Amino acid sequence: MVVEDGGPTAPSGPGSLIQVPAAPTNADGDLVIANYLPGVAATSLKTVMNWGRANSLWYMLFGLACCAIEGLMAGGAARWDYDRFGMFFRSSPRQSDLMFVAGTVTEKMAPRIRTIYEQMSEPRYVIAVGACASSGGPFKDSYAVVPGVDKIIPVDIYVPGCPPRPEALYYGAIKLQEKIMKEKWHKKQQAKAGARA
Ligand code: SF4
Repeated sequence: MVVEDGGPTAPSGPGSLIQVPAAPTNADGDLVIANYLPGVAATSLKTVMNWGRANSLWYMLFGLACCAIEGLMAGGAARWDYDRFGMFFRSSPRQSDLMFVAGTVTEKMAPRIRTIYEQMSEPRYVIAVGACASSGGPFKDSYAVVPGVDKIIPVDIYVPGCPPRPEALYYGAIKLQEKIMKEKWHKKQQAKAGARA
């Protein structure tokens, strides 16, 4: 049997020529088989991986100052409830892939935050909650305060406010989910491997 690329045709017997349609791809170049076989729903592996990651963010249970009360404690309690987004707190960085940095980042705490971040599972994400974590806030000129947690770890989403309302935090979390859905994770891993080399 001979198989060639080209338009679809039905096999007409032993030794017949079967032409296989060119594999359809989307704008990112991923293989997509949707509309290819009737009754079959198909998507790319990247979409499935990103969908799983975006909807099962487990966040690290810790807070630094007042933003932790407003954003994490109120936001995680029954009235707003992070669980609705598949987000659960974990008490171990090894089981967490999301860090809310909620509160003032002091020079004293900076190495501890960095250590916790490095112990978290890959791929990991960071949301800076409030003015202090984003830029130092009202204490940015203090000798004891780091002017933004992005000076010590990479930040994916910044949520403004002093403190931000839980609704603002939810908006930030939804934006992070949208960002993860667009992630080209295999390219991200290749870039990290290249950076480590
Ligand atoms: S941004 Fe405002 S509420 Fe949040 S930790 Fe700083 S001072 Fe407290």
